[in-house]
Amino acid sequence: MDPLILSLDQGTTSTRAVAFALSPDGALTPVATRQLELTQHYPEPGWVEHDSAEIRDAALQTCREVVDAAGGVTRFAAMGITNQRETAVIWDAATGAPLHRAIVWQDRRTAETTRSLAADGHEPAVQGATGLILDPYFSASKFAWLLDAVPDGRARAARGEVRLGTVDAWLIDRLSGGRSHVTDATNAARTSLMDLRTLAWREDLAGLFDVPLAALPEIRPCAGPLAETAREIFGRPLPITGAAGDQQAALVGHGALAPGDAKITYGTGAFLVANVGTTPVASGARLLATLGYVVDSARAWALEGSIFSAGSAIQWLRDGLGVINESRQSEALARGLQDNGGVYLVPGFTGLGAPWWAPDARGAVIGLTRDSGPAHFVRAALESLAYQTRDLLDALARDGAPPLRVLKVDGGVTANAWAMQFVADICGVTVERPAYQEMTALGAARLAAFGAGLIDTLAARETAAPACWRPQMDPAERERLLGGWRAAVRAAMIATA
Ligand code: ADP
Repeated sequence: MDPLILSLDQGTTSTRAVAFALSPDGALTPVATRQLELTQHYPEPGWVEHDSAEIRDAALQTCREVVDAAGGVTRFAAMGITNQRETAVIWDAATGAPLHRAIVWQDRRTAETTRSLAADGHEPAVQGATGLILDPYFSASKFAWLLDAVPDGRARAARGEVRLGTVDAWLIDRLSGGRSHVTDATNAARTSLMDLRTLAWREDLAGLFDVPLAALPEIRPCAGPLAETAREIFGRPLPITGAAGDQQAALVGHGALAPGDAKITYGTGAFLVANVGTTPVASGARLLATLGYVVDSARAWALEGSIFSAGSAIQWLRDGLGVINESRQSEALARGLQDNGGVYLVPGFTGLGAPWWAPDARGAVIGLTRDSGPAHFVRAALESLAYQTRDLLDALARDGAPPLRVLKVDGGVTANAWAMQFVADICGVTVERPAYQEMTALGAARLAAFGAGLIDTLAARETAAPACWRPQMDPAERERLLGGWRAAVRAAMIATA
């Protein structure tokens, strides 16, 4: 019987465990899945918290159920973990008990801290060392906040009595019965505390953010022996041999292993990660420099850009405007129009992300005439996905990233074939959607299989044919549409200035 790999995907809104069967040719096939929703806590405006104990318990429950459903732990050879990135967890080193709720990546409570560090001129040094801008998004200022919130937190942390980590480190700590306080380098790359070249914590940054290094996990590659689950978890130890942040795991899942490979996940927001090769590329175009993956035999750096509103624009059409009842109706409405009628929608509902980084920007619709109807709003919302993607790809090109070979896509919005064709047309690149959609869980499983020595390459071996969309639009038409979009973005910026 083929060995099984347990993949744990701890996301922002849910925790999912998937069992994959590993065939002799190295292909991974899902055989069982369990998922639990995660409670979101909003204690104050701009604050978002998760209960770390709920995360731990959901991870244990989904994993145990999947292990049972797939035939028991003896069938499993290894486990991989992938997770929501940047979210900061604090716990007691001796008891493993959470000392505070986790601060989620979306949380803005430390905006003042990072603003004042920027005002004091620290951004170039932080960006030079870590690839990241100064923003509350990243873990370091969240760790510092947690240490302030816990009685005697900083002194206890310096003595090694308190542990800090991103969600991967928290789960590995609990799964190993507190024996392993480790993190993988892609998660560490999102803290603002790791040097992007040496992949080691930086004393100077720990000092700047006031986070004692003694409280941080050890940084490890994404594949290899990371930890072993405590016997009581599954009744028998299981080696944890793969770990990566969710977007990086998806990059591996897509097999985007070479420079010029890129993936974008179109969910509520959209996350582009582009493989730039074996040395980091600094961004002058307001993308983030980060790691793609690191294993003993290979490593890749990446540039990353986030679009805040992608599928959420479709949700707004449905729940806010009421012009559709279900997301999938958007496709027929957009297709039914000859053209966009000059209507553009800038979905700046929660500000604009990369490359604009305009948190205070708001949405705009321009170009309305008496002929504009509901379908124009739908079409403009779907078109905005492509224009925003194009803005990110242009930023990549300005940063000197290797030319894109193909854009690999996943996420709920990719069910919309009209939108995917429009992305191919506007970006001038082939868009490819794999047959199996759970790229994050697949990537973690592949890292774990590789880390356990069960496969000798991270390259995708799954053979189901992807869906492909190739650019067909006349370049002059593309430029005309992009002109309209740029005017709309300017209008959104002016309207909110
Ligand atoms: P997340 O992981 O962020 O929760 P998903 O990957 O599950 O997101 O994608 C959900 C999003 O995809 C929703 O915003 C939904 O509106 C959008 N969506 C789903 N189907 C379609 C479709 N056919 N056309 C456009 N958008 C869609």
